[in-house]
Amino acid sequence: MQNPFSRTRFLLSVAQLEQLPPPDLPEVAFAGRSNAGKSSALNTLCAQKQLARVSKTPGRTQLLNFFELANARLVDLPGYGFADVPLEVRRNWGPLITGYLRQRESLRGIVLIMDCRRPLTDFDRQMLAWSQEARRPVHILLSKSDKLGFVASKQTLLAVQKELSGLPGAPSVQLFSATTKAGLDEARTKVLSWLA
Ligand code: GDP
Repeated sequence: MQNPFSRTRFLLSVAQLEQLPPPDLPEVAFAGRSNAGKSSALNTLCAQKQLARVSKTPGRTQLLNFFELANARLVDLPGYGFADVPLEVRRNWGPLITGYLRQRESLRGIVLIMDCRRPLTDFDRQMLAWSQEARRPVHILLSKSDKLGFVASKQTLLAVQKELSGLPGAPSVQLFSATTKAGLDEARTKVLSWLA
């Protein structure tokens, strides 16, 4: 598949909802616990080695980092896992994320990245609940699928699908590996369908 994301560029970082760029382009947000593989997934999706590095630079990890492609935006939401983050930043995190999910008119969907070896953490469930509340569709990438064998990864996929199938607006779920690029076309197709 030709990669429509290859010209993605960093646009800006936002600490408060008042600073959001105008909602004039459709956007898809990426969420995940720290270390889940969110930066690697974004880089792989966009076929750029360093794209999401900007979101990891000091001072930016707790911000909404916006990237722009031709007619759309991708938003890297701050990861969760706060050992080194000051209390006032942590307090701001929930309202910032929930405010964004509720208010952002141009937000078409959320890609939630979960390490396939530790899916559905408390953080993931919180994100799912907030997304549901805000009536936002969610697509889950079970990342680092290369770390599990074929059978174990399929079992994880089925278990997560089954567990979420009862939820209203049940999220779609797939296996993904930034290392082997397994699931890359499926992920790109999903994001493009939201941005279309
Ligand atoms: P983030 O904190 O969610 O942005 O996670 P990163 O993308 O920085 O990944 C965290 C760690 O997991 C890094 O050491 C990555 O190299 C590793 N990682 C990410 N994706 C994969 C993958 O698909 N396969 C493997 N084996 N490791 C991965």
